[in-house]
Amino acid sequence: MDVERIAIVGAGTMGAGIAQSAAVGGFEVALREVDDGRLSAARQEIERRLEREAQKERLSREETDAALGRIGYFTDLAESVEGADLVVEAVPEQMELKVEIFSELDALCAPKTVLATNTSTMSPTEIAAATSRPGRCIAMHFFNPVPRMKLVELVRGLDTSDETTGTARSVAESMGKETVEVNEFPGFVTSRMNCMIGNEAMNMLTEGVASAEDIDKAMKLGLNHPMGPLELADLVGLDARLRNVEYLHETLGERFRPSPLLVKYVKAGRLGRKTGRGFYEYENGE
Ligand code: NAD
Repeated sequence: MDVERIAIVGAGTMGAGIAQSAAVGGFEVALREVDDGRLSAARQEIERRLEREAQKERLSREETDAALGRIGYFTDLAESVEGADLVVEAVPEQMELKVEIFSELDALCAPKTVLATNTSTMSPTEIAAATSRPGRCIAMHFFNPVPRMKLVELVRGLDTSDETTGTARSVAESMGKETVEVNEFPGFVTSRMNCMIGNEAMNMLTEGVASAEDIDKAMKLGLNHPMGPLELADLVGLDARLRNVEYLHETLGERFRPSPLLVKYVKAGRLGRKTGRGFYEYENGE
C-alpha cells in the first residue's frame, strides 16, 4: 500500500522524533497531543532539532524548511487522522491506554489505514484485538533518539498480514531506517535484552561491584557497547524503563524482577536526563 500521510498520536520523546523523521522522509505528517502546551513543546523541539541539522549541514536549508512545512499539529484526534494511510501510536507504555486509543482509531480511520504501535514491550496482538482490523495492525518499534537511530523493529501480531508488514517496512525504509522482523514475544529482541543488561547493571551498582562510571566504562571499552547501560537508562527515562521491566517481570518471570534501586529512584522522582538526575546528574539535559 502507498503511504503519503502519517498521523502520530503522542508527541513526547518518541512521537516528536518519529514526526521529524517521517517529515524528512517526505511524508505528510499530522502530530496529535492532548493539550496545546505539550503540542507546542514538541513543535519547538522539532524546529530546534531541524535547525541544528541545517546548521551542521546534515540537511540543506530547503530540506529542513520542506520537512517543517509537512508537519501539521493537532489536539483533535479525528482531525489528526483524517486521510491518514498509517497511524503510529506513541503514548505512554500502558496497555489500557493503548487499547483505548486503538479502539478510537479503528472507529475514526478508513478501513485501509494501517495502525501501528510504538510499544517497547507489549503485545501488538492484544492491542489489535481492540480493533476490527487486526490484519492491519503491527508494532513499529523505533529507538531513541529516532532521527539518529537506524533500526525499526517490526513486530507482527498473530493476525498481522504480509501486506501490512510490507507497508511498515517500506515506510521505515523511506525514513532511512533498517528493519528486523520479529514474531511477537514480550520485549521483542531489543527491549528484552536491554532490560536484562540494564537491570543487572543496577543490581551490580547496589552490590557495590563498581561505580556507575566504571560499570558504563567497562561495557563501552570492554564489550564495545556505544553507551553504558546506566547512561542509556538515564536517556530512556527511569520511569519508562521501570514500566518495561515490570511488564517483562509479569510476562517472563523472576529473572526480570526490577532492580530495587530502579524502583527507589523512580519513587524519588530521579527519572534520568529529563529531571536532571538519575544515575548521573545533568545540566540542561546534557
Ligand atoms: P512520553 O511520555 O515522552 O510521551 C508520551 C506522550 O503521549 C505524552 O506527551 C502524553 O501527553 C501523550 N499522550 C498521552 N495520551 C495521549 C492521547 N490520548 N493522545 C495523544 N497523546 C497522548 O513517552 P515516550 O518515551 O515517547 O514513549 C512513548 C511510547 O514509545 C511508549 O510505548 C514507549 O514504551 C515507547 N518507546 C519509548 C522509547 C524511549 O526511549 N523513550 C524507545 C522506544 C519505544
